[in-house]
Amino acid sequence: MASFSIERVLVERGVEQYRIFSHVRERTAEIPQSNSAKESDRMAGDYPDMGKKTLHLLEYNGELLKPCPGTTNHICCGYQILNVATNCPLDCSYCILQSYFNEPNLRVFTNLAERLEEVFNLIENNPDKIFRIGTGEFTDSLALDPLIGWTDILVPPFSKRKNAILELKTKTVHIEKLLALRERDQIIVSWSLNSPTIAATEEHRAPSLKKRIEAAAACQSEGFLVGFHFDPLIPHPNWQDDYLKTIDLMARFIDPARIIWISMGSFRFMPPLKAVIRQRHPHTSVLDGEFVRGLDGKMRYFKPIRMELYRFMREHLEAWHNDLGLYLCMESDEIWRRTMGWTPKNTEGLSRFLDERVKKFFG
Ligand code: SF4
Repeated sequence: MASFSIERVLVERGVEQYRIFSHVRERTAEIPQSNSAKESDRMAGDYPDMGKKTLHLLEYNGELLKPCPGTTNHICCGYQILNVATNCPLDCSYCILQSYFNEPNLRVFTNLAERLEEVFNLIENNPDKIFRIGTGEFTDSLALDPLIGWTDILVPPFSKRKNAILELKTKTVHIEKLLALRERDQIIVSWSLNSPTIAATEEHRAPSLKKRIEAAAACQSEGFLVGFHFDPLIPHPNWQDDYLKTIDLMARFIDPARIIWISMGSFRFMPPLKAVIRQRHPHTSVLDGEFVRGLDGKMRYFKPIRMELYRFMREHLEAWHNDLGLYLCMESDEIWRRTMGWTPKNTEGLSRFLDERVKKFFG
């Protein structure tokens, strides 16, 4: 059972026919359940916590698969987001979702299984394209898996698509359902990592770094390919020693030859997020650095700070293993050249690099 305490379940009309609803129903029999219409005047009270303890079951009729929004004037990775839910039961102080959605609650799209054919038709109609797809942009891919059963719905059919991979990105250790499945092909389980200090002080409700890395090791030993994301890197007192501790832990538990990729990005945000962070996380130190506004309107650390972060991480990760599929998330050609020793030049170039990683591991 999920360790995140769901205190109520809101059910929208018409969702009872869907597979996810039945799965949730069986696992939340003890939790107060109500029709969403009757609850509408209570929803405003959820906002301070973004409704993170309310599971809201609804039908979704918008675009199921969409390109990652990326950012203008920077090199992106050509990823596609499978929109399974919005909001997340964890509560990282730096989370951009805090100013991204105007609707509260853990909104789970119950008609996912029934709509998947749309996605598979698209994949099959484009056999020369590699679809790198993830569910972990607008929520955590595994945090609610024990309740929702996402992996049961997604992993078996995705593992049959040779020109697609499904990346399940998480900070949790909810791998039990995943490990119980037989399929491994075309599936990547990836963890967001940080320094032990940032993990303990800013990633509220998330398991410790050691637990995350142990979960990744368990997935590897059960035959899954894994990935890691150091995003957001955040300079803080003794950050070098602190990030080294994370790399040491990885080296202790993880087989580097079975890592498909490791991304790095530094903390960045649209200006309105700052006030939300100050209000929701008054003790945070993520806003302590000096930020400048980039061409895409986002606030980022000064270039020399970002370069120092990336160079340091690259040097130490490559000292561990020299073929980790390291890449930068939303950075410029110049930063790539000056920190990584090469540049994909543009989004197409980075997409090709990541597609090659997929081919290397999945053939
Ligand atoms: S795990 Fe990701 S989506 Fe969830 S609160 Fe943290 S940053 Fe946001």
